Amino acid sequence: MLAITGIGTLVTNDASLERGKLGLVKDAALVVGDDNKIAWTGESINLPREFANNAIHVGGRAIIPGFVDSHTHLVFGGDRATEFEARMSGKTYTAGGIRTTMAATRASTNDVLVANARRLASEALHTGTTTLETKSGYGLSVLDETRSLQVATSITSETTFLGAHVVPPESTIDEYVNLVCGEMLTQCAPNAKWIDVFCDHGAFDVDHAQAILSAGAHAGLGLRIHANQLQHGGGVQLGVEMGVASCDHCTHLSDADVSALADTKGKTVATLLPTAELCTRAKFPDARRLLDAGVTVALASDCNPGSSYTTSMPLVISLAVLNMNMTCDEALWSATAGGAAALRRTDIGALHVGAQADFALLNSPSHIHLAYRPGVKLVDAVVRQGKCVAGSLA
Ligand SMILES: [Zn+2]
Repeated sequence: MLAITGIGTLVTNDASLERGKLGLVKDAALVVGDDNKIAWTGESINLPREFANNAIHVGGRAIIPGFVDSHTHLVFGGDRATEFEARMSGKTYTAGGIRTTMAATRASTNDVLVANARRLASEALHTGTTTLETKSGYGLSVLDETRSLQVATSITSETTFLGAHVVPPESTIDEYVNLVCGEMLTQCAPNAKWIDVFCDHGAFDVDHAQAILSAGAHAGLGLRIHANQLQHGGGVQLGVEMGVASCDHCTHLSDADVSALADTKGKTVATLLPTAELCTRAKFPDARRLLDAGVTVALASDCNPGSSYTTSMPLVISLAVLNMNMTCDEALWSATAGGAAALRRTDIGALHVGAQADFALLNSPSHIHLAYRPGVKLVDAVVRQGKCVAGSLA
């Protein structure tokens, strides 16, 4: 049992409280039961006496649900600092840089890949991320994709087979799609929950993406898609038709794409990854257009060594508010409950009674400061499954 009181602002994302979408409680308290789930939330003044005596007082600081980063690529070798420097000197980004990381990943031992993925997962945890999804996609051979997914399972249960990231140089696209849908899928599926495909210029077209997602569905995997990042195309429409959990990036959308997403009524989430635009000096996705159309929006980091080498969800929230005209409340919701929706999870991303006790204690009186104080370390402590795993609640 863990009881916390003196919470300046508690974000519960519990709509049943009828305190807005964030379910905000001021001067709040929270109790975690012995099952490591949320047992009670409410105003401190109403905290039952049996909990009040042992409660930790956090002095008016805010508590938010842990971030759910529903899109990362943490299994890779090497880095791409040289490419980044070149791009910042004026070159444009194409999907081809992925092959640089492919070579470094193939050359790395499993131990090196595990250590790198764990380092990044720990970095994410310390900025408040309590659940993250991660993908294969830098091995691009049966052997290297299979071991990439084994590595991924060492940091999360939300693992995604992204053999269809780009075509490796030794294959033609048709040969490679057959491999991804055949032996590679068979070897990778036991360690994957999801399948994903990069449907964009320089990667896979709509027909190939459809074949890959169909094969993944047949193998029992959930579906996600990288769509409409680099240019307009049919990725979002395909994703919606196939009932994917999330269309990720959504930077270049037609009106038909937006209404197709809205018509799913939240079944297909639009996951925006603004640090990818930040780090490639590209135009940010139009979050307002999606939100105003009624699309369910998630925010994630896209952490990868090429186009978004950051694990920081607070940075993502800052960009969403400051550069994409999301409100502070919308951005916080999308980085927590939105990410959970993109993973089709109802046990995380919110602090309703019965939810997994995953939350972050901020060094500020409210969640607004995440956008208001960009770049400042605001996470004082992180609790995952009821245990303080980073920082201190005291
Ligand atoms: Zn990605």
